[in-house]
Amino acid sequence: MTWLEELGVRDFLAHHSTLRIIQLSDDFVELEGTYELYAQFENGQIIDDVIDLKIVIPSRYPNDVPTVYETSNKFPRTPDFHTYKDGSLCLTSEVRLRMACFDNSKFEGFFASIVEPCLFSIAYKVKFGSAPFGELEHGEDGLIDDYEKLFGVKGKEPVMLTLKALGFRYRDANKLRCPCNCGLRLGRCSLRFRLKPMRRLIKRRWYREHLTNNFTPIPKKEAPVKFRKKTLGRKYVGE
Ligand SMILES: [Zn+2]
Repeated sequence: MTWLEELGVRDFLAHHSTLRIIQLSDDFVELEGTYELYAQFENGQIIDDVIDLKIVIPSRYPNDVPTVYETSNKFPRTPDFHTYKDGSLCLTSEVRLRMACFDNSKFEGFFASIVEPCLFSIAYKVKFGSAPFGELEHGEDGLIDDYEKLFGVKGKEPVMLTLKALGFRYRDANKLRCPCNCGLRLGRCSLRFRLKPMRRLIKRRWYREHLTNNFTPIPKKEAPVKFRKKTLGRKYVGE
């Protein structure tokens, strides 16, 4: 199958000889096997472990995203360890994950930049109780944290406004107040350049759904209580 060659799956397997193809169809390839985790961290701590992996790579990669499962049950299947009930891993935030697919035309690059850091981070937390690069966030807080870095904005509302802008047509998005708090409209701020590849590669509808499915709405600010203007009595100027 040509897509298998295009994605460099065989090269990847040549470099990871403990993994092999278990299932292959027009839609996906499924790899399975053991994976050795060995790393010495800057603080001197060592991770030295072997886990079982199942990797499903869709033939529509990079438009569709690979799924990685930890199948040896060494990672607790809880949000704290970024592992779902079925053993699949929450590799990173959705936008970053999708962008990483487009940034890496070969699966090997995706594996090295997204999957490996995730595996090491979880394995470290399992062994030492905390994540090596600071606590791993999950859920909405984790997304906000990650999108702040990705978009270059600060705070939940600016993150949500950026996602909202990405869900709009370019022309309409440019009319919005810029999420970076520069006081300009988005069409006048350099943030629009930063968002350009994300806009080009991921569909607007996807951003709209991502925003509704993953973020709790920000409560509307209460309208300031309006006081009726006091009619000022004429000042009596006494003698
Ligand atoms: Zn701005």
